[in-house]
Amino acid sequence: MKILLLGASGSIGQQTLDVMKKNPSDFILTGFSVGYRTRCIGSILRKFPTVTHVYLRDEHKVKYFQKKHPSVTFYSEKFFHLEDLINAVDCDMVVNALVGFSGLLPSIRALDLDKKLALANKESLVAGGEIINKILDSGKGKLYPIDSEHSALWKCLKVDDKNVSKMVLTASGGSFRKLNRDELKNVTVKDALNHPTWSMGKKITIDSATMINKCFEIIEAGYLYRYPSSKIDVKLHDESYLHSYLIYKNGLCRGEINKPDMRNPIKFALYEGKIPFETKSFSSLEDLKGLHFHDFDLARYPLVGLAKLVLDKKGTYGVALNRANEVAVQAFLNEEISFLDIEYIVFKIMKEHKSIKDPIVPDILRVDHEVEIKARKIVEKIKKGERE
Ligand code: NAD
Ligand code: MG
Repeated sequence: MKILLLGASGSIGQQTLDVMKKNPSDFILTGFSVGYRTRCIGSILRKFPTVTHVYLRDEHKVKYFQKKHPSVTFYSEKFFHLEDLINAVDCDMVVNALVGFSGLLPSIRALDLDKKLALANKESLVAGGEIINKILDSGKGKLYPIDSEHSALWKCLKVDDKNVSKMVLTASGGSFRKLNRDELKNVTVKDALNHPTWSMGKKITIDSATMINKCFEIIEAGYLYRYPSSKIDVKLHDESYLHSYLIYKNGLCRGEINKPDMRNPIKFALYEGKIPFETKSFSSLEDLKGLHFHDFDLARYPLVGLAKLVLDKKGTYGVALNRANEVAVQAFLNEEISFLDIEYIVFKIMKEHKSIKDPIVPDILRVDHEVEIKARKIVEKIKKGERE
């Protein structure tokens, strides 16, 4: 399988390279992209001499790399759209390990070009779930999730997808799971980046602390498995060992139990779900000795409630949700706003959003841009102490 890896310098990107390196007879890396972290380019090219094309964001570094590696073609953001790399590179599968909205157009292009898409970038489905499903419905492309919860659900559905009454996503609760809402007022960026069970990129670590990550994952599950929001629940789980589970109409459950290691779901997606796997059947969570669960409390993590709005109403609510969050998270990381201001910004944008029905790509790009401007204005107001 020839693979193009988008986001090779990130957490999922690096772990994808680990999986590929361990299975050299099954995977050939033909191209990859990085962001501004270009230090890894040399080592990836040494480990994967089959690479013909590399994309990086900083145009000033292209000349340097082109001179150093004349047999490889380098592109930069200024003159080339990332999604065009998918046309340029000879590949069967695109692994989308990009973070945020930057992943959407590459996901759409990959499927439009009838490629297999191994998707870590959940924001693609949050902002463009309907469009992505329409492409799949037209018979183009194949979509394989990398997110651990969705990988677990995929496995369980493979065993038995009949008579499912609920899909349950497990959640660690993020860096602040031991704090109450009052204690969230003064938490710092450093505290927020300290995730209890997973080591991940900065954005998803903050998304886990606010739990908007779980909101995104409900939307992701809704689009991937075509389940309504009413059939998707969340359960808090301390150890991140049970990765998600199904509850069947007869009361029995089925889930995947595995140590928290993203290389497992990455490998499963790279092999298109065609390798052996294990799921466990159980009659209640109490049967799973040594694992701890708690009921999910929407009042503690209110952002999770927005998944219902996005899945039920569709339109451009997901676009607004995603961009409001991206702006707010970046402002929090820049120490411009407090942790709870992230929620405030997201709710304000969502409350005022005028959704467009059945959006096409230009609508999505326009809404994304408008929300970005609006959310930045709210950040500026907060900085001046003018939060309403
Ligand atoms: P990361 O920040 O570590 O890496 C992101 C990658 O995207 C980097 O290579 C970066 O250079 C690139 N990138 C960012 N913005 C870009 C842009 N505008 N143009 C081109 N490249 C750009 O993030 P990550 O933790 O690896 O997460 C990647 C995706 O996987 C996210 O959607 C995340 O929600 C999802 N995910 C991550 C994990 C995990 O364990 N890290 C688990 C499940 C899902
Ligand atoms: Mg996940």
